[in-house]
Amino acid sequence: MTDIIIEHQCPQCGAPAILKETDRLFSCEFCRVNSYLLQDGFFRYMLPNAAPETKDLVFFPYWRFKGMLFSCVDSGIDYKFIDISHQAVNSRYFPSSLGLRSQALKLNFVSPKTNGYFLRPTFSFKEVMGIFQNRFNTSLPGPVFQQSHVGDTVSLIYSPFYKEEKMFDAVLNKAITAEPPDDFETASLPGGRPNWHTQFIPTLCPDCGWDLKGRSDALVLNCKNCGSVWGPTKSGFKQLKFSVMQTNEKNVIYLPFWRIKADVNGITLNSYADLVRIANLPKAIQKDWEDKEFQFWSTAFKVRPQVFIRLGRSITLSQPMEKMLRKLPDARIHPVTLPLKEAVESLIINLASFMKPREDLFPLLHDITIMPKSFLLIYIPFVEHHHEFIQPKLNLTLNKNQLNLASNL
Ligand SMILES: [Zn+2]
Ligand SMILES: [Zn+2]
Repeated sequence: MTDIIIEHQCPQCGAPAILKETDRLFSCEFCRVNSYLLQDGFFRYMLPNAAPETKDLVFFPYWRFKGMLFSCVDSGIDYKFIDISHQAVNSRYFPSSLGLRSQALKLNFVSPKTNGYFLRPTFSFKEVMGIFQNRFNTSLPGPVFQQSHVGDTVSLIYSPFYKEEKMFDAVLNKAITAEPPDDFETASLPGGRPNWHTQFIPTLCPDCGWDLKGRSDALVLNCKNCGSVWGPTKSGFKQLKFSVMQTNEKNVIYLPFWRIKADVNGITLNSYADLVRIANLPKAIQKDWEDKEFQFWSTAFKVRPQVFIRLGRSITLSQPMEKMLRKLPDARIHPVTLPLKEAVESLIINLASFMKPREDLFPLLHDITIMPKSFLLIYIPFVEHHHEFIQPKLNLTLNKNQLNLASNL
């Protein structure tokens, strides 16, 4: 898997810079200023063009998704890692996808200063995902009871074209193969000038003014000075509630998890007793378990699909009640790289991963809805061993390679 590469300029000094699509924290090599990328919704990029300057460019949009697709089938949960693009405007004249272009070329952010006519998407991302899933599902055995896509990169990528006697692909300056009729006018399709821009905001702690630090792909920034934790919103940083599981162990790394309280409809899952019943755990239900509230857990960092499911299931089944404090530890903390929104998308798969017996319960998945109500970011200490990180109390292990490899997922 390769990341999209974006060319841009430092908002402070104008020096040229290169970003990966997962980068959020940008540190300028020249002026040393740190800034954080904010975008309302999803990022919008465009492919570079080689068109003569006199041409009026038309930008054709493609939805792009990179992430995991989970499917619940008879034999269990099937997963697939996908990296797709698809027309966001239905047209038989333009290529149906970007092919490998978005990986082979350096992209740019679309800004209000960009010249050209930007076609407005007529397909929503959801519709495009539906088309793709239908195509993919024919390769799956038997019925698909539920599907969920979990990733962090939904973006809109624009490809430039211009019209002479023929329609030209402005990336290559070559006429496109599916030639539109002479009276085809792109300007008759809905669209206009771009009015979105990517904001770069200073990475200063809103509470104490300290410079917030983090890995370039961190989705949450921690203030080492005042001990606060910040998540980006479209208008700036917002303080996040968090807790830290306590430990006496040495040589630990703290891994982030999302704990999510949700209303589950279509099946009864409110208490720990309900969980024991649904997961068919070999435990005699005790009376007070009926009052012990059930909560979902998901990793807040990217890992491979099978590890993502395994960790989410194990920790959700154990419903940890260890002692926690709202104080950042003086130890290594792994960055949050999986957004809360994506963790929420994955809850139905988390539920499916522990339902038993599957034959009886999978057919119910279609009618189950999970509405998140509240969440908490929780840091859990893992002890570093030679090849793996181990959480002894919760009996969790994570191969070190799996964590390292995941940084380019
Ligand atoms: Zn700079
Ligand atoms: Zn601070």
